[in-house]
Amino acid sequence: MRVWIAHQLAAVIAAIVVTAAGCDMAGAPAHNTAGMAEAETVSTRSSDTPEKTMSPKYSKSGYDVTSLPHDAVAKLAAKLGPEAYRITQKAGTEPAFCGNLLDNHKDGVYVCAVCGLPLFSSQHKFNSGTGWPSFYQPFDPDHIVRKTDTGYGMVRTEILCARCGSHLGHVFDDGPKPTGERYCLNSVSLKFHEKGAQLPPESQPVNVGGGGAQPASAAVAYFAGGCFWGVEHYFHRGPGVIDAVSGYMQGHVDHPTYRQVCSDTTGHAETVKVVYDPTKITYRRLLEAFFTMHDPTQLNRQGPDSGEQYRSGIWYVDEAQKREAEAYIKELATSGRYGNRRIETQVEPAKTFWPAEEYHQEYIAKNGAACHVKDPW
Ligand SMILES: [Zn+2]
Repeated sequence: MRVWIAHQLAAVIAAIVVTAAGCDMAGAPAHNTAGMAEAETVSTRSSDTPEKTMSPKYSKSGYDVTSLPHDAVAKLAAKLGPEAYRITQKAGTEPAFCGNLLDNHKDGVYVCAVCGLPLFSSQHKFNSGTGWPSFYQPFDPDHIVRKTDTGYGMVRTEILCARCGSHLGHVFDDGPKPTGERYCLNSVSLKFHEKGAQLPPESQPVNVGGGGAQPASAAVAYFAGGCFWGVEHYFHRGPGVIDAVSGYMQGHVDHPTYRQVCSDTTGHAETVKVVYDPTKITYRRLLEAFFTMHDPTQLNRQGPDSGEQYRSGIWYVDEAQKREAEAYIKELATSGRYGNRRIETQVEPAKTFWPAEEYHQEYIAKNGAACHVKDPW
């Protein structure tokens, strides 16, 4: 509640500075003096984005989040109206209860008003009563940059677009479940696209197989073998594997968080998405690696972890994968490798893959923690 008041207070102070900040006031106040805000925005971009020599960067949900160079942002920002320019480029705040997206209850996606990157989804929008559009989680954490803001004698967390560095609003820790976060947005920082509408290219993910960093022949496979840290770690090291991502699959809740999945109520299994080049490694070889890594005879557990989220599973993307997975399991079952223990691995059509939070990605590489899985290579 404390921080909720803080945001309100900032707007109130801002309103006082200008004496009267009505909805139609194009010259409404900025958080800081224009010069300071400008310097702050520029320094954020240059410290976070040594983009000149940077290779393309992709978010976990598959969008190009490579930082745009300053001149490209300037070109895009030049198309904005004065109010949108002031807020997104000079860290301004629009007056409460005035933004055009506050009462928008349609299904769809909210993209950056400057560069088009998807930032929020209608399914995470809630009425915070603050007068600004509010969400309890971003579209993808990789699409948002957080930065400490000490303006107005308060310590708040500013949020910026990860691709173009535009100011979006602030995030507070007094939001609703499941995240407990409240992303407080300026309507003019966002552009809304209703579900079903054709999205411009800048608001679409990079195709697997079509351009981007991946070869044209990239294929995808999904494996659940208990805690995803170790499974992801070893798949990463597979020859011909392009990428391995930890996430959640086969559940019935959209955008699940780790906390929700751990509660064992969402139906998700910790899953690793493997992007591979089939001209360099076969699906059969991935299956072999998967069954070497984990113990498929354990039901709803792996090593020290127990619960349905740790079940063994193969989520196939087409009939060929299904046939191959089932045939390989049959082969294993009759091989004597597991004695008379039953193979519990589920084989199901792949549902939506929800990438896990950033701190789970490449966890073993970052933390060096031991794991229950065996090196299959
Ligand atoms: Zn942007």
